[in-house]
Amino acid sequence: MSGPALVQAPRPRADLLLRDVHVVDPRAGLDARLDVRIRGGEVTELGAAGVLAPEPEAELLEGRGRLLVPAFFDPHVHLRTPGQEHKEDLDSGTRAAAAGGFAAVVAMPNTAPVLDSAPLLRSLREAAQREARTAVGLLGAITMGLEGEQLTEMAELRGAGALGFTDDGLPVQSAGTLRKALQYQRLCGGVVALHEEDPALARGGSMHEGEVSAALGLGGIPTVSESTMVARDAAIAGYEDARVHFQHLSCAGSVEAVADAKDRGGRVSAEVTPHHLLLTDEHVRCMDTRMKMNPPLASEADRQALIDGLRAGTIDCIATDHAPHARDEKEVPFEQAPMGTTGLETAFAALYTGLVRPGVIDLGLLVARMTAGAELFELEHFEVAPGRPANVALIDLDTEWVAGEQGWESRAENCCFGGRRLRGRVLLTLSGGGVAYRERALEPMAAA
Ligand SMILES: [Zn+2]
Ligand SMILES: [Zn+2]
Repeated sequence: MSGPALVQAPRPRADLLLRDVHVVDPRAGLDARLDVRIRGGEVTELGAAGVLAPEPEAELLEGRGRLLVPAFFDPHVHLRTPGQEHKEDLDSGTRAAAAGGFAAVVAMPNTAPVLDSAPLLRSLREAAQREARTAVGLLGAITMGLEGEQLTEMAELRGAGALGFTDDGLPVQSAGTLRKALQYQRLCGGVVALHEEDPALARGGSMHEGEVSAALGLGGIPTVSESTMVARDAAIAGYEDARVHFQHLSCAGSVEAVADAKDRGGRVSAEVTPHHLLLTDEHVRCMDTRMKMNPPLASEADRQALIDGLRAGTIDCIATDHAPHARDEKEVPFEQAPMGTTGLETAFAALYTGLVRPGVIDLGLLVARMTAGAELFELEHFEVAPGRPANVALIDLDTEWVAGEQGWESRAENCCFGGRRLRGRVLLTLSGGGVAYRERALEPMAAA
């Protein structure tokens, strides 16, 4: 691979003393109030709260017990660049990421043109090196133009820096094509990430098939559209001993299929989105197009199975599938609206409010799953540990805020959590040792 796996624009290295922050870093076994020193963009020292001495050249921030976590890693976002910059671009997308506490995001290749060749991928990496506020990784397409037929030059894409491959937005419909892609994956490395949907079953649907779709008279997408493809592709991957990742699981049947594949020793992993963990097809009753996404919001039983899968580790990580659309594209009748919701700016707060505060999962598990995306690409986890680059997020868990009330960092507004009262406001995000986001309301830091 040419150069580092993740790229971002250079930023000034931070010199900070975060005094008395509640550090929760499950992998490091940390859950304590500490002082954290960051010098030259690197975590250099942890000490008991109130013990580390301020330094004249470093900014002092009184944490007052606010949460400090390893910054989040999102393995699945759409930055819409190149070609659809009216929806999002590298700057606005990574700005939204940083505002949500993410220090790294992995962008999908369903852009215009599709990232299906090494020169295109290389030039987007170069743009990210100039413009991205957070670290950015790229996936290349599995098939040319996402058409599901001719494979891309996967080895060349790897050579140009692709972390892996996906046709996200579309399934790889032909089992034979997928099998060939997996044979190449074994040769050139990188994960193959799969958006699972059987077009023959999903056809014509704009929401989950169930009572609500029947009541609304909308075409439904049955959950077997996803789960049968997960089972099929897990079997093919097992046969080829290939490495696959299942994107945005949305239903109980898919969780079962992934659990079965893992039981058989398959090299599989899976992700789930905040919206599938928190919302169901009941939220579609109002025909709000922000609730229209692919895969669709499913039943309460499916939602519970996803939560159980997340707890059990069947589902490895949380991904937003941040999918920006322009306002006029979403302000149309439900059936005509494009699928997708934004999610970077609300992921942590929505999950903290909806799952951690009611005691459904604990905070440590949420942080673990929101940082685990790095594993898919065999990258090191972000950690709050001396000697590691500062990739951390400082979060206020007490203040309530209304999502979107003060606008969005993203260029798009199609967030399914927009207007909700949430707890868990990101105040500061460091990515690659530099400040990528600082909340406007964050009080000026006292000079040391
Ligand atoms: Zn998808
Ligand atoms: Zn996607």
